[in-house]
Amino acid sequence: MATDYDEVRPDVAEARKASLEAVKSANAPDARSVSRDLDEEDTSDGVELAGADLSNEELTVTVVPQKEDEFLCGSCFLIRHRTLLAREANGVAYCRDCEG
Ligand SMILES: [Zn+2]
Repeated sequence: MATDYDEVRPDVAEARKASLEAVKSANAPDARSVSRDLDEEDTSDGVELAGADLSNEELTVTVVPQKEDEFLCGSCFLIRHRTLLAREANGVAYCRDCEG
């Protein structure tokens, strides 16, 4: 009886090892799918945050790094050189490309 248990135990241990390796090898694709899910969640969160930031234009303008001779176009949101400044309204600058 006891001998039977001793014979079974190594088999169980091997089975556990095999299942562990199976889990390890299965972890790689699993991690990818998990990261995909995280990416999707991050994207949706980013969209929500970006939407919230749009309601606070002053904060957005402050965060964007720009040199003294550059401005952030309030229409295309590109950093433009001051020479391309076409119009400024309500503290928002617009480049020549957007003003036509
Ligand atoms: Zn523009």
